[in-house]
Amino acid sequence: MEIFLAKTQGFCAGVASAIDIVELALRTYGTPLYVYHDIVHNTSVVNDMRERGVVFVENLNDVPEGSRVIFSAHGVQPEVISKAKARRLKFVDATCPLVTKVHKEAVKFSSQGIDTVLIGHAGHQELVGTSGYVSPDLLHIVERETDVDKLNIDVDKTVAYITQTTLSIDETKGIIEKLKRRFPKLIGPLRSDICYATQNRQDAVKELAKICDVIIICGSPHSSNSNRLRETGEHLGVKSYIVDTATQLDCKTLKNINKIGLSSGASVPRYLVDEIIEKIKTHYPETIVHEFQNPEKNIVFPVLQFKE
Ligand code: SF4
Repeated sequence: MEIFLAKTQGFCAGVASAIDIVELALRTYGTPLYVYHDIVHNTSVVNDMRERGVVFVENLNDVPEGSRVIFSAHGVQPEVISKAKARRLKFVDATCPLVTKVHKEAVKFSSQGIDTVLIGHAGHQELVGTSGYVSPDLLHIVERETDVDKLNIDVDKTVAYITQTTLSIDETKGIIEKLKRRFPKLIGPLRSDICYATQNRQDAVKELAKICDVIIICGSPHSSNSNRLRETGEHLGVKSYIVDTATQLDCKTLKNINKIGLSSGASVPRYLVDEIIEKIKTHYPETIVHEFQNPEKNIVFPVLQFKE
């Protein structure tokens, strides 16, 4: 048996920076420390921080006045920031700069009174945050191609689109093409909102699909980008699984498999991937692991400090 590790996988710069902010805050100030929403969508990362005293909240009312709170990498609505100020909270906004770029596009289109189609998954924290930067009367959320037909916008008007950063590149292309056909004056961001990490990880899974019999994605079930990686493999006709940790992997299903592709979402620490490799090797001791150089290793985002 052979395991091929995806060339690009695991922590992206936005996730690494958000996690570093929490670690720095823990070292500098200790607990109590609050984080608004899961800092990143990975169960192991969040559980580890929780065990060290970090309190995760979904409502700022649960953060005592004057306390320290960190906003997750997915971004928050402007009202959340206003509320933090009103409650005299010391906060760090750990929103990934690439998500902030989308917020700025949203503000620009709304300031010009342009109806804006936000492509993404309803209920996902990033979409909730970005929605807050679009004027409510100009906001239209589209999740799939069929939603485009239901949009109640004059087809002769200028219409803008923006997207969640972690979508399927191929599916999003289809939605944008359909929007262009329905709204000839459609405008969009100068560069795709889908981030480099999403693009690179999906491209790497496509490479794995050319040579592997099965693909395993390490990622939590609520991680958007991890789910898109599994779907990328499936769409190319390769059986693809998502597992949160090695304990979820049933190695009996790998019997008779020669080549396994292994990747992980942008919020997955490397040790979880190593545990999967070790588990497979325990069951199949002759396994050979192929690893390639990661071209992203020099991409780093700055770590921000608390506004005291
Ligand atoms: S997946 Fe992309 S947008 Fe999201 S945190 Fe990582 S780099 Fe930022």
